Amino acid sequence: MKAIFFERHGGPEVLTLGDLPEPVTRPGTVKVDVRAASLNHLDLFVRRGLPGMTIPLPHIPGCDAAGVVNELGEGVTGVKIGDRVLMNPSISCGTCEFCQRGDATMCTSYQLIGEHTSGTCCERIVIPAENAIPFPDSLSFEQAASLPLVFVTAWRMLITRGRLRAGEDVLIQGASAGVGIACIQIAKVAGARVFAAASSAEKLDLCRSLGADVLINYEQEDVAKRIRQETSRRGVDVVVDYVGKTTWLRSLQSLCRGGRLVTCGATTGYNPEEDLRHIFYRQLEVIGSTMGSRNELMAPLQLVFAGRMRPVVGAVFDMKDAADAHRAMEARRALGKIVIRVN
Ligand SMILES: [Zn+2]
Repeated sequence: MKAIFFERHGGPEVLTLGDLPEPVTRPGTVKVDVRAASLNHLDLFVRRGLPGMTIPLPHIPGCDAAGVVNELGEGVTGVKIGDRVLMNPSISCGTCEFCQRGDATMCTSYQLIGEHTSGTCCERIVIPAENAIPFPDSLSFEQAASLPLVFVTAWRMLITRGRLRAGEDVLIQGASAGVGIACIQIAKVAGARVFAAASSAEKLDLCRSLGADVLINYEQEDVAKRIRQETSRRGVDVVVDYVGKTTWLRSLQSLCRGGRLVTCGATTGYNPEEDLRHIFYRQLEVIGSTMGSRNELMAPLQLVFAGRMRPVVGAVFDMKDAADAHRAMEARRALGKIVIRVN
């Protein structure tokens, strides 16, 4: 089958389009004809190589996909051949201490498809049947493929971990990126007032169209200062920050007393400047979050399926242009998710 893969870690140039053996269906799994795969920042980290983590090479990147079920493994019920499905990228064991108490993302043998296993930028993948989620005809394959990773991440981060409630104020740093697009919409559905920080007028226009109430261009103004102005010096209840190094201190400064800073990543660097006085004196909470359970994926998907939230596909690339797709991601050029069309 055709696949995008790399045989060594490095820049976008290591991505190759070639032939790899087709995966084989096992009991409890389904084979999916992939039609579209979306990019996430994690794909860049996996391609460059993650310290302390060895990935068997060649590796097919990609955590998100949508396609058509074309083969059922033994014992599979619930999905049929021909179903249009998107893919839950999380695999957990179901039996460890953390799975038993319902925290699948804390599973001691947690696997993310595309990071710990072979990914989605290829013609056919085999996944556990429960990871295949049918989606309505109102969504294209490109739109469906853009949803899972960012919406599940945003839901767990804002709702489960961040405990966002109606009437609260939330600041989203890097709001026009994939997770931001999901965060803005989820925060609005939750009844919060949304402050969106992004780096250009064009990106802020997208944030406004998704429902953001207050737009802040962080290239042109001090985010924390603007937040103080907009909230009568109080600060916001929740800040979402997966940008990391360049935004962390401003995020701490933007919170109200007792506010919650939630993070699910650090795209600009892991070691930000910090000031512990903000954390203890103003009694802030710093909360980590990663991925989400099946329920935390289904909750936002149902809202998208019902038309109350929408996918935002910013650019679509053919498989042969996968390196350009990675370059566009690295340059933060696209408004919305970058999708690779497969087949
Ligand atoms: Zn487990």
